Amino acid sequence: MAVSEQLIQDVVKEVLAKMELSKPQSSAQLGIFDDMKSAIAAAKEAQKVIHRMSLDQREKIISNIRRKTMENAELLARMGVDETKMGNVPHKILKHQLLAEKTPGTEDLKTVAWSGDRGLTLVEEGPFGVIGAITPTTNPSETVICNSIGMIASGNTVVFNPHPKAIRTSNFAVSMINEASIEAGGPANVACSLAKPTLESSDIMMKSSDISLLVATGGPGVVTAVLSSGKRGIGAGAGNPPALVDETADVKKAAMDIVNGCTFDNNLPCIAEKEIVAVDAICDELMHELVTECGCYLASKEEQDKLTRTVLTPKGLNRDCVGKDAKTLLGMIGVTVPDNIRCIVFEGPKEHPLIAEELMMPILGVVRAKDFDDALEQAVWLEHGNRHSAHIHSKNIDNITRYAKAIDTAILVKNAPSYAALGFGGEGYCTFTIASRTGEGLTSASTFTKKRRCVMADSLCIR
Ligand code: NAD
Repeated sequence: MAVSEQLIQDVVKEVLAKMELSKPQSSAQLGIFDDMKSAIAAAKEAQKVIHRMSLDQREKIISNIRRKTMENAELLARMGVDETKMGNVPHKILKHQLLAEKTPGTEDLKTVAWSGDRGLTLVEEGPFGVIGAITPTTNPSETVICNSIGMIASGNTVVFNPHPKAIRTSNFAVSMINEASIEAGGPANVACSLAKPTLESSDIMMKSSDISLLVATGGPGVVTAVLSSGKRGIGAGAGNPPALVDETADVKKAAMDIVNGCTFDNNLPCIAEKEIVAVDAICDELMHELVTECGCYLASKEEQDKLTRTVLTPKGLNRDCVGKDAKTLLGMIGVTVPDNIRCIVFEGPKEHPLIAEELMMPILGVVRAKDFDDALEQAVWLEHGNRHSAHIHSKNIDNITRYAKAIDTAILVKNAPSYAALGFGGEGYCTFTIASRTGEGLTSASTFTKKRRCVMADSLCIR
């Protein structure tokens, strides 16, 4: 068969373009651009290559991202803590290892088929193209890597506008992802970011006709911005997860599970227990367990007031307190405690500012409820309609069922620490983008796809 000159020229052009894309832009900053338009253009070129790759080739890139994340877990954890001054290194290492092992890849993409007399129809999940993603300070590299694995697995590339306060860590992760892609035979710029992201660069991203899907992981401001953009948006917003404990719970275990979840990475995960609602019948016993067995410090009324003034300033949440450990927080109000103090507890009404607000630090207010009905009502109030996460410690399946229906959250963990929801000590996959506001729930490769119907009429049914 004669090969046309035009075809040869096209192939050569494509190979050269791929070689150009694969060239490192600078030694340590692969995929990092000075302006948003250039970042989007580079991601668009890379997406054309990724989309043509076989699933097996994409999976090779993803395996290499997993391997590099494992190798760099400690480095990424240290960078995150150094730069953001939030969280702790051992738990951030675990978070990176978890995401490397349990973030779904191409196997997550699903096909639905109808086969019958009139042929075969498939619905397959195809890429959007270039995705614009906004990432938080609380899990910076975790979110960048987790989003990238899912988005590349589904044939997309991604442009990040990371939180400026976590830019070094986020961009290190972006470079690492591109290095992994190039090493595995893929293009550079499968993930792109900016040297200096701003609200203006995020606005350019939201308005760009080359971005077909936006994914926002952060507080209410960014989710609202993305959902007001006129584009399809996935909104992974704030939570204030209550942990309800009823009279049928194993109180000792409940106390330890709640403190383990609440103190994980100094309470930074959006799913982490932020307050307890306990029925009166076990409330004193629970408080006793928290203080005597679980390393909790019982704050006096005066200390609660000092903490409130320190943590919640007239301008809002004091970011210097977010993600700090209990000992540091107590030190800020002049209280010295030994190293084994992990969490600060006190009893208060649900309206107490340290209970009603999402603080992201190991302060656990305990709200007493007269019975399960009262507990359910108070817990639903405390979740503020975020529909994000809630937890319960109970052996009464009727209570659990009623709670699940009433609180209606993307995540509900029963009788375990909150992190079981991410596959850590529980079944299921991992994500750091939980689409609470828009309802996709725990995002994965399949979430970042368009449904496409492919119809063959009157053939290929072999039944
Ligand atoms: P944040 O809202 O301050 O910042 C998140 C991102 O949004 C950053 O990149 C920031 O620069 C950007 N941003 C903020 N306002 C914006 C606007 N108006 N337009 C465009 N971009 C904007 O959040 P944070 O402090 O970094 O993270 C903590 C918050 O994120 C908490 O509320 C937590 O619950 C939430 N969170 C949710 C999830 C989830 O999966 N649902 C995961 C992690 C964090």
